[in-house]
Amino acid sequence: MSWQTVIGLEVHVQLATRTKMFCGCPTGYGEAPNTSVCPVCLGLPGALPSPNAEAVRLGVIGALALGCEVHPTSVFARKNYFYPDLPKGYQISQFDQPLATGGAVMMESPERGPIAISITRLHLEEDAGKSIHDRIPGHTAIDLNRAGTPLAEIVSGPDLQSPAEARAYLVTLRQLLVYAGVSECSMEKGSLRVDANLSIRRPGAPLGTKTEVKNMNSFANVERALESERRRQLALLEAGRQVTQVTLTFNAGTGAVKPLRSKEDSHDYRYFPDPDLPPLVLEPSWIAAQQAGLAELPVARRNRYELDFALSAYDARVLTQEPAVAGYFESVVAAGVDAKTAANWVMGEVMAGWNEARVFAVEPQRLAALIALVDNGTVSLQAAKRIYVDLATSAEAPRSVADRLGLIQVRNADALVGWVDEVLAANPREVARFRGGEAKLIGFFVGQVMKKSAGKADPKAIQPLLLERLGA
Ligand SMILES: [Zn+2]
Repeated sequence: MSWQTVIGLEVHVQLATRTKMFCGCPTGYGEAPNTSVCPVCLGLPGALPSPNAEAVRLGVIGALALGCEVHPTSVFARKNYFYPDLPKGYQISQFDQPLATGGAVMMESPERGPIAISITRLHLEEDAGKSIHDRIPGHTAIDLNRAGTPLAEIVSGPDLQSPAEARAYLVTLRQLLVYAGVSECSMEKGSLRVDANLSIRRPGAPLGTKTEVKNMNSFANVERALESERRRQLALLEAGRQVTQVTLTFNAGTGAVKPLRSKEDSHDYRYFPDPDLPPLVLEPSWIAAQQAGLAELPVARRNRYELDFALSAYDARVLTQEPAVAGYFESVVAAGVDAKTAANWVMGEVMAGWNEARVFAVEPQRLAALIALVDNGTVSLQAAKRIYVDLATSAEAPRSVADRLGLIQVRNADALVGWVDEVLAANPREVARFRGGEAKLIGFFVGQVMKKSAGKADPKAIQPLLLERLGA
C-alpha cells in the first residue's frame, strides 16, 4: 500500500514599507549593525508601539490578492519566548483573530496539473533581530536592525502532495505578491522565508505526525529539504517506527535535515492580546476600496496577452513571470513593434540580461528603433543582435551603431554580383554538384556570400542572384 505526502507551508514575507511595524525606524538592508533601532524596537521599558498604516495596507492587499477574507477587526497578540535576538521577550503577532483567513492560490502542479491550494490565514507580525555567528570568533553577535520589521505570515492548508509541488506553489505565491506590490520577496535579502511542515499517511487516513523544516535559502533548497525529510519519515514508517514532532534544520551543503529541537505547540507561547495595542479595526468601505484598487494579477495578465496580443500560452507565461519584464514588453509594443516580434526579443536578448543583472540595459524605445531597422531591411536580424550588444553599453542610436560597425545591409546590385561571382569562382566543385541536381547547396552559397560580405549582404537579395548566375 502506498504512502501519501502532506505538505503545508508557512511563508513570511517582509512588507515593502520604508519603516518598521510599530516604530519609525527605517527597514533598510545592509546597514551597519544596530543603527536602525529605537526604544520601541529595542523593547525598552515604557516605549509604546504604534501600528504602521502602510504595513497594514500592504497586508490587506496581500490577503486580497490571495483571495482571503479580510476581517474588519483583528487583534495583535504577544507571542512569548526567550531568545537573544528578541529584546522584548515576546514578538507582536496575531493569533486567534488574524487579519485575514480563507483564501486560495490557483497553481499548476508539476504532477497534478491545475490545482487550488487553500490559504488558511494571513496575519501581521514583527520580525526578530538576527544572531550573527561568524563576526566575532567564539561569540555570537546580535544585530537588532531587523527587529520590528513588518511581516505577513501566510499559512497554506495541508494541500501540497510533493516537494516539487511545494516549490511550484512558492513560485506562484511569490509572483502574486510581487505583482500585488506587497513585498520584494527576495530569499537572498531575507524578505521571504519558508518554514515547511511535512507528514506522511496512508491515503484516506488521518494526518500523520508532522515535522517542521527550517533554514532553506532558496526555493530549490525547499524542495531538496522536503525530499530529504520525506525519505527520513518514510524510512521510519517502513521500519514500523513513529515520527516524532520535531523542528529540523536543512544543511544545503550535505542536503540533509537535522533535528534542532522538539517542536513547540502554540500553548507553549502563552499568547495573549497585547495590552499596548487596541484591536486593529478596518472600515469595510476601506477594505472594499483596496480590493477595487488591486493591481492586475498574473493570471489576468496572461489571459490579456493571449487575447490582445495573440501570443501563445507559453509566450504569455514567460513574459509575465516578472511584472517588470511584462511592463518592458508592453513598452516595446507601445513603441510600435509587432507583439510577436517584441515577444521574441524580450524572451531572448532582453530576459538574458535581466536574469543576470536585474536591469534592462536597452530602453524599450531604442529596442523598438532597432527592430524597425530589421523590419525595413536596413540591417539583418543577425546584425541587429550584434548591435543590441553595443546598445547595452552605450547611449548611441541603433542606426548610428549600425553605421559605425558597418552593418548596413548592402542591396546594391553591383556589390552583390561581385560577391556572388567571387564565391562561385572559388567553389567550382560545389557549382558542378549544384548543376548536377544538389539543389540544397543553395544554402551553402548564400552562407558563403554572407561571409564574404561580412554579414552586410541582404540574404533575400542574394538567392535570386545566385540562381540566375548558376543558370537554375
Ligand atoms: Zn525602532
